Amino acid sequence: ATHQSDPACLFCKIVAGEVPGEVVHVTERTVAFRDINGQAPTHVLVVPRAHYENAAALAAGDPEAAAELLTSAAAVATAEGHDDYRLVFNTGAGAGQTVFHTHLHVLAGRALTWPPG
Ligand code: 5GP
Ligand code: ZN
Repeated sequence: ATHQSDPACLFCKIVAGEVPGEVVHVTERTVAFRDINGQAPTHVLVVPRAHYENAAALAAGDPEAAAELLTSAAAVATAEGHDDYRLVFNTGAGAGQTVFHTHLHVLAGRALTWPPG
């Protein structure tokens, strides 16, 4: 299977510039944009440019892109002035995944409790 783009996928469309997104950071393999329904002062989604449905599929198919998601997430947190932040991959509908293009949530700027509920 190819993982280049899914014409029905919202995040593929944001990566392609076909749907607007407030992009805050880009790298060779990733794009980071603000969540449309932010849950914290910083709530950014970091996605691979290529379409993989979840983090495990990305790690198996393109480990360099998976690593780049993490370095991009840290760069976003630093750029927004946060030493403390949370990174989340929701995987599967039962865990809250609603968009089936891998995305790493970067949450910061308020107290973040644990466990998350
Ligand atoms: P999930 O629930 O799959 O882990 O996260 C999907 C995230 O995508 C949600 O936090 C949701 O607010 C965000 N989202 C959904 N549609 C859009 C959109 O059109 N633009 C942006 N920027 N974020 C979106
Ligand atoms: Zn996609």
